[in-house]
Amino acid sequence: MSTPSTFVIVGAGMAGGKAAETLREEGFDGRIVLVGAEPHRPYERPPLSKDYLRAEGGLAWLQEDEGWYAQHDVELRTETVAESLDVSGSAVVLAGGERLQYDRLLLTTGAEPRRLPLPGADLEGVHLLRTIEDSDAIRAAIEAGGRLVVIGGGWIGCEVAASARQKGMDVTIVEPLELPLLRVLGPELGGFYRDVHADQGVELLLGTGVEAIEGSGRAERVRTSDGRAIDCAAVVVGIGVTPRTELAEGGLDVDNGVLVDERLQASAEGVFAAGDVANAAHPVFERRVRVEHWANALEQGPAAARAMLGRDVRYDKVPYFFSDQYDVGMEYAGLHDPGSDELVVRGDMAGREFIAFWLRGDRLVAGMNVNVWDVSDPIQELVRSGAPVDRARLADPNVPVEEVSSSPAAG
Ligand SMILES: Cc1cc2nc3c(=O)[nH]c(=O)nc-3n(C[C@H](O)[C@H](O)[C@H](O)COP(=O)(O)OP(=O)(O)OC[C@H]3O[C@@H](n4cnc5c(N)ncnc54)[C@H](O)[C@@H]3O)c2cc1C
Repeated sequence: MSTPSTFVIVGAGMAGGKAAETLREEGFDGRIVLVGAEPHRPYERPPLSKDYLRAEGGLAWLQEDEGWYAQHDVELRTETVAESLDVSGSAVVLAGGERLQYDRLLLTTGAEPRRLPLPGADLEGVHLLRTIEDSDAIRAAIEAGGRLVVIGGGWIGCEVAASARQKGMDVTIVEPLELPLLRVLGPELGGFYRDVHADQGVELLLGTGVEAIEGSGRAERVRTSDGRAIDCAAVVVGIGVTPRTELAEGGLDVDNGVLVDERLQASAEGVFAAGDVANAAHPVFERRVRVEHWANALEQGPAAARAMLGRDVRYDKVPYFFSDQYDVGMEYAGLHDPGSDELVVRGDMAGREFIAFWLRGDRLVAGMNVNVWDVSDPIQELVRSGAPVDRARLADPNVPVEEVSSSPAAG
């Protein structure tokens, strides 16, 4: 780009960091300002509930070399909060009052954990998990031992429960629904994950709410809706996240995230959003999609960067997610509705090696491979293509996933 101009990125997480990287890779030679509230350069969050939490692995920086940002002339402003947005004046106002004028703006402000609206939620020893500091605090609790109560049986709750259990803590999961992961995966797969945790000695209090967290000065027990009091050393609250739209609300269309089109452009010209905060029109699913997945941040950041440069962008990636709990690794690709889509299972759920497929009519809308590898790409391709698939072939482990279409080549 020959005209020097200023591109501001608010949110120095994965999506924002990848966007800055892509702008330079694509030859943009204007000013890039990457504004981030945290005291760190962009890093990956998945290890924070897995190997990093268990003190078995390090942090995963987007740029291993701390000097990368200066070397590439990216002004990384850490510990800097963007406080408001002036869309008509093309400026972001930072805490302290500095106005940053932009020619293009990218919002990658991510999401933040929901807080428990209950007595005792702010006691010492009650943890949320989003940042390195959160993970460090939970890691210290795991090292101290005792019982950990995990409130919420979603992905974060399940992964923290697994890590704490692997490190020898006693663990109780309290989940108001009948099964962990029920809302995202449905009853069959929720039952699968219940058994995985129960087999590892995790106590699961399902269909059970929380009334309060109690203790003198710090969390000592969790009082449940069925009248139990669970003594504990620490509590982790994993009850979901909300997109960080505070900034966007001052001038952009917002509804469960920042509304963006297929180019990831928001309701104002020259303003884009990507990652957990973006609720994007999706050409494959023909509806808006906002996902909280690492791969989405990794792919949408670069796509938004290209759109900022005026390139022809149509973001049509199939959502992809992974999770590791004990020796159960899984990848999920697609987007299904557990309440209405049909489940077809290939392989052995009891043996913990299987693929779950979800169908809408004859079309594959999602697939989840558990301890079966190298099949996520063909699953994503099938979901993207919308080709009709054959149930019997889907269920047959001898038919490669690439060949489950209902009109296979003769022979
Ligand atoms: C513990 C944990 C484990 C996970 N494990 C997995 C996994 O196994 N698989 C998977 O697919 N996904 C996983 N995820 C989800 C994945 O990490 C997220 O989808 C990803 O981090 C989203 O990236 P992002 O850049 O959109 O947002 P974020 O990572 O949330 O980054 C946004 C950044 O913007 C900053 N910010 C927000 N508002 C402002 C402001 N006004 N001014 C300045 N800065 C601001 C925030 O401080 C933050 O640093 C996990 C998440 C967590 C927390």
